[in-house]
Amino acid sequence: MFELRRDAYVNGRWEAGTKRFAVRDPYDGAPVAEVTDADDAMIDAAVAAAVEAFPAWRAKPGPARGRLLRAMAAAMEADAARLAELCVRENGKAMAQAAAEVTYAASFLVWFAGEAERMYGEIVPASQVGQRIEVTREPVGPCALITPWNFPYAMLTRKLGAALAAGCTVVCKPAEQTPLGALAIAQLAEAAGVPEGVVNVVPAADGARAGGRLVAAPGIRKVSFTGSTEVGKLVAAAAVPDLKRVSLELGGNAPFVVLADADLEAAVAGAMIAKFRNAGQSCVAANRFIVEAPVAEAFTGKLIEATARLRVGRGSDAGVDLGPLVDDASARKVARLVADAVSRGALVVYGEPPDGASRLVKPVVLAGITPAMAMWREEIFGPVVGIRVAADEADALAQANDTDAGLVAYVYTRDGARQARAAAAIESGMIGINEGLVSTAQAPFGGIKQSGIGREGSRHGLDDYTSLKYVMRRP
Ligand code: NAP
Repeated sequence: MFELRRDAYVNGRWEAGTKRFAVRDPYDGAPVAEVTDADDAMIDAAVAAAVEAFPAWRAKPGPARGRLLRAMAAAMEADAARLAELCVRENGKAMAQAAAEVTYAASFLVWFAGEAERMYGEIVPASQVGQRIEVTREPVGPCALITPWNFPYAMLTRKLGAALAAGCTVVCKPAEQTPLGALAIAQLAEAAGVPEGVVNVVPAADGARAGGRLVAAPGIRKVSFTGSTEVGKLVAAAAVPDLKRVSLELGGNAPFVVLADADLEAAVAGAMIAKFRNAGQSCVAANRFIVEAPVAEAFTGKLIEATARLRVGRGSDAGVDLGPLVDDASARKVARLVADAVSRGALVVYGEPPDGASRLVKPVVLAGITPAMAMWREEIFGPVVGIRVAADEADALAQANDTDAGLVAYVYTRDGARQARAAAAIESGMIGINEGLVSTAQAPFGGIKQSGIGREGSRHGLDDYTSLKYVMRRP
């Protein structure tokens, strides 16, 4: 079924438009495809289609919407190999990780298919005889879904699955670097028989222009955005004049805490996933390693041994663990953060500071990180480990909370009481205890503080796409 689509998908039709932009392979910059650059008229047409399709889609029984989501998931799984290949080409990530992303992305469609079947209401005991209080969940309306480049499939299905399950229609604006994944998902919707206008995808070269137009469009009732905290704030502000509902999945600054009683082998295994998945380009990437003094040396040594085994290269080549960073700006940013840390006294204990000229960044391990260094505050988004020693448990937990972000934290300790104290004390939406990967469709994903508003996945994932309607009735 799956073929490479390069045109926008608007109201059930593939629209070539008048302008196109190039999608390039992050490994060598080779052109992958020339994609439609949706102009303002096309974005408006996509919104109009979503508005027109909304009444019939919301009226469709939940189980029928769920069946279409299941069909999309089945098609996604059936074409997993080719979808993974496409992801490697536009995003650069290692093939095994691209394959894992396809599975993860499909899991949201399956999960929300089930939620569509279980969109229960409530009957609440009333105070007066003869009254009946009924509470139902109503779809919010046409939604704008704006997604980043680091997980082109999963960041979209996590939104689209919930929106479609709830009875909302959608206009999707993928990142400039990775529009092909979103166009593949539009094909899955088309092939499954999702009615025209329910799913629309408008790729664009200028994200601020296209995203801004979409957020401001009068027909849009809700905006769900995943991306940087900086842009998330702009999106939230742009949604204010019409008081549109907003969900924000923003940047993280995850602490990875290793306490003195931790199983160090497990901690290193978890660190390899939490740090190096997607070459470090993940909102849930471990950004600050905080290690209790008695095990700092042993943990660092074991982590270096494991890091030395990682292979960097073209994502599609066998045995490659880390693909290139997505673009030149990302490579320059990682080099800047390492240079800043070194200039402020960090020690390079493994690897070499990247030069910023190549997107193929090799892992680096730095010791002696301090809060004065930019990488303590900013997302590194690259394969760089920065380690800071903590005097004791209380110091480690205080360091973990020394950030405006609050998406996820990782803690390694065998002691149940320490686990409970860490889970209670750390300010973040998600915590992995002796686990380096917490993302899964049935759990609520999302942050607190400046990491965002709302939750995706889980039974709570529908909340952002529904409003409660209360009816007081005398039958
Ligand atoms: P980004 O630059 O903020 O872009 C995200 C999306 O917003 C892209 O589609 C972008 O289009 C679009 N956009 C840019 N300016 C806009 C504007 N003014 N109005 C509306 N939309 C606009 O983020 P990114 O670099 O793609 O992604 C990396 C960031 O995403 C990191 O901070 C990461 O932590 C975060 N992230 C968070 C989660 C989470 O669940 N919390 C998950 C994944 C990633 P263009 O790309 O075309 O500019």
